Amino acid sequence: MGARHLTDEKIAEIKQLRAECWMYADIAEKVGVHEQTVGKVCRSEPALEATVEQLAEWQAKQKGRKSAYLKAYYLEHKQELNQKNKEYRLTHSDQCAGYSARRRARIRGATWDEPVSREEVFALQDGVCYLCGAQCTQDNWHMDHVIPLSKGGEHRYTNLAVTCPGCNLSKQAKLLEEIEA
Ligand SMILES: [Zn+2]
Repeated sequence: MGARHLTDEKIAEIKQLRAECWMYADIAEKVGVHEQTVGKVCRSEPALEATVEQLAEWQAKQKGRKSAYLKAYYLEHKQELNQKNKEYRLTHSDQCAGYSARRRARIRGATWDEPVSREEVFALQDGVCYLCGAQCTQDNWHMDHVIPLSKGGEHRYTNLAVTCPGCNLSKQAKLLEEIEA
């Protein structure tokens, strides 16, 4: 079922709950729609053209959010998570987004004079997608360059953000369209 079958009231309700940091599944249950529909509504107006300033604003806003429980979780399980990530990187080096982001950064000669850790990027944003506001989990998120490396963006914290896989892929698709256009 597409988002276009929804009434304006329901769409507004979904967006309101999303702004309050509800999980898609919980919104779906409360509003009485399919979880995928919630995702569609929430992603229908992502700020794909976000600037570094917008990201800084977003990160500052996130700091005060209730979902800080994730940060607490991260701090509490830091060693365990870092160890897990290290092991994951060793066994999945090619698929690891952090690895390939660094590799891409190097290839394109981007500036990255500070070591960047995926865990830190995740913690900085409480694991919330900066494009649609979805709560990501530690094992299912993408690290995104807000200003793409291909457009001169830097591989550093001020230009790195958490995205859900859906937003990241649609942003990549959009960039590809621009390149091909
Ligand atoms: Zn997203």
